[in-house]
Amino acid sequence: MKKVGIIRCQQTEDMCPGTSDFKAASTGKGAFEEFGGAEIIGFVSCGGCPGKRAVPRAKMLVDRGAQAIFLASCMRLGKPVGIPCPHIEAIREAISKKVDPVPVIDWTHN
Ligand code: SF4
Repeated sequence: MKKVGIIRCQQTEDMCPGTSDFKAASTGKGAFEEFGGAEIIGFVSCGGCPGKRAVPRAKMLVDRGAQAIFLASCMRLGKPVGIPCPHIEAIREAISKKVDPVPVIDWTHN
């Protein structure tokens, strides 16, 4: 089972405990399907707008064993309130450069 790190939107921390992310990872559903399930070794936030802290935090997760970085669905899909992150493309690109060749997946669950 692959080890993964998840980065979430700091704006949703006080309204979502990430239950669906943990469930999708442990059951191999959603974005974790191709991994056949995954062990979450770290679950951190982007650090707040515009998400610059997500880059060193992703590196920290990789240094601690993450084989892939997932951006939680609160970012691209705007869950649970329907407001997507306006910075997700820049965040994803910056993280991808920082942790290359570790893959960066931009959702976790539907
Ligand atoms: S940068 Fe995006 S993911 Fe981070 S707090 Fe702001 S809206 Fe949320």
